[in-house]
Amino acid sequence: MKYLLLLALIGLVIWWLKMQRRDRNNTQDDASQTNKAQHMVRCGHCDLHLPQSDALEGSLGFYCSTAHRDAKES
Ligand SMILES: [Zn+2]
Repeated sequence: MKYLLLLALIGLVIWWLKMQRRDRNNTQDDASQTNKAQHMVRCGHCDLHLPQSDALEGSLGFYCSTAHRDAKES
């Protein structure tokens, strides 16, 4: 019976930690979404999504790096 209580307590702590972590992630996502409501573009070579301000614009679209732009457009 003592072990059962201990197990229940451990389960409760794990559940509580998971909830805490999920709440923190949600608030971080909300904050980042409101802070930078900038347009996301996709790298034409590796399909990586990145903010348009960080992307390189080529004649065929956006790229995450010069290497990927060169690989696609040369
Ligand atoms: Zn890329």
